[in-house]
Amino acid sequence: MTTRIFRCIFLVALMVLASSLIFVMWVVHSRFMQSELAQLKVEASLASQAVTNEGLPYLEGLDNTIDCRITWISADGTVLYDNRSDTVEMENHLQREEVRQALEEGYGQSTRYSGTLMARYIYVAKLLPDGSILRLSTSQGSVLGLMLGMWDSILLVIIAVLALSYWLSRRLSREVVKPLNELNLEMPLANEGYEEIQPLLRQLESQQRQLRAQSTELKQKQKEFNTVTRSLSEGLVLLNNSGTILSINPSAAKLLEVTPNCLGADFSVANRNPSVAALVEQALRGEKQEQTVSLSAGQYLAAASPVRSEGQVFGVVLLLFDVTQKQQAEQLRREFTANVSHELKTPLHAISGYAELMKSGLVPQSDMVTFSEKIYQESQRMVQLVSDTLRLSRLDEGAADMQWDTVDLYDAAKQAVHELTAPAELAGVTIHLEGSSAYIRAIPQLLSAILFNLADNAVKYNKPGGSVTIRIEDRASEALLTVSDTGIGIAPENQQRVFERFYRVDKSHSKAVGGTGLGLSIVKHGIQILGARLDLDSEVGKGTTITVHFPK
Ligand code: ADP
Repeated sequence: MTTRIFRCIFLVALMVLASSLIFVMWVVHSRFMQSELAQLKVEASLASQAVTNEGLPYLEGLDNTIDCRITWISADGTVLYDNRSDTVEMENHLQREEVRQALEEGYGQSTRYSGTLMARYIYVAKLLPDGSILRLSTSQGSVLGLMLGMWDSILLVIIAVLALSYWLSRRLSREVVKPLNELNLEMPLANEGYEEIQPLLRQLESQQRQLRAQSTELKQKQKEFNTVTRSLSEGLVLLNNSGTILSINPSAAKLLEVTPNCLGADFSVANRNPSVAALVEQALRGEKQEQTVSLSAGQYLAAASPVRSEGQVFGVVLLLFDVTQKQQAEQLRREFTANVSHELKTPLHAISGYAELMKSGLVPQSDMVTFSEKIYQESQRMVQLVSDTLRLSRLDEGAADMQWDTVDLYDAAKQAVHELTAPAELAGVTIHLEGSSAYIRAIPQLLSAILFNLADNAVKYNKPGGSVTIRIEDRASEALLTVSDTGIGIAPENQQRVFERFYRVDKSHSKAVGGTGLGLSIVKHGIQILGARLDLDSEVGKGTTITVHFPK
């Protein structure tokens, strides 16, 4: 900009210089001409006087080096004398404008181009008393000629003016641009200076305000996005169309074992999981991909979707969902089904075997009762197994169809004791119920199942002559149910596992006492649904105490 302004100013200065020079030269030239004419007139008067007095000898006696041309013309126009040309060759001068004028008025003057002398001349003619005319002329210098005559002075002036113009132009252009260079663009309205740029500054200010608002809004949105994605347990990665990581939430960084500050890095370099890399590559080619991948944190469903705009893939969204629990649940379900089938197969085989023997008549009449008894026991076991399985699957579904009610824990325990009195007597075990009423919010049939299974186990895994004590305690914030026995106890390594489905410490013992391996699983699940907590304290050979804390 400075150069441009400098060029403009300098050009203007040059034009002003050139036009001034021409004007001045023209004025000087015309003044010079006027003074020449005046001088020529004076000279013509003097010469006329002399020629009148002395005639031709005067003219012939003149110094040949004088500046002006002198022509003496007779009254008929014949040239009598000319100090520059040969009079013989000269034509009649009567028709010359100045001569005609002098003949008429006594004095004449004209300016014209002389063909004879090939220059522009000023002519002054004076009528002499004898009727002849004396004409003086001098060449009229052109402006160019005048300038050439003064070339050294003019050159000096031009150089001086050029230097001055150059210096002034530079200074001026810098001065003009200075306020623009010093503009504070951060605060456009704080600038004072050119009034002409105020609209521009106001526009700038308004645009800056808009930009600031947009930037704040963008930051806010980015913050919201980060807050949302940060709290996601699912992994989320956003990539651009060249596979550069634009956003990655902490879950995804952890799952893919990359540093969270890998933004801007190439995903194929940062990520070391080949399955995920293959999915992302295909998504970048425009194909949506989903696959269960094995990550260090477990099994994850990785979904890579291309993001399109106007038919072009301009990014990829990668989502990682935890499917470990789902897969574990499926695995458990498969195992459970296999276990149930297996558990059912044994009594079924036994029943079928006994019935076949009875049908073929191979069983003596005396053993018929024993065989029938065996068939009854096996079918009872199947009934128990099927009812436990059904109960468990209802609990798996969250027991949503079961009704909650206020229940007296003591009453429920009394019912369980009542149901177990006969089996306990058979096993030679005594049951005691202690404590007082304790009302809790619970699902009655679930509570009964919990109480029955705990008390049943305490009887089943007891010793002849042993005892079972059920105690109910009503505390301020909870109700306590304690079932303790003096039975065989559970070894520490089995204390966690007894709550697994179909897990039995001693399978044959459990079967002998009619166990299905599902009782404690029902207890554990039921307790979870009721929001209660269970403690197990057991010592092999001494007995087991199970305490359940019911919230009030
Ligand atoms: P089961 O139908 O076999 O009794 P449970 O789930 O109720 O199945 O119990 C799982 C296993 O835990 C039992 O087979 C038994 O070995 C052990 N067990 C449960 N309760 C007691 C207890 N009170 N004393 C000793 N062992 C117990």
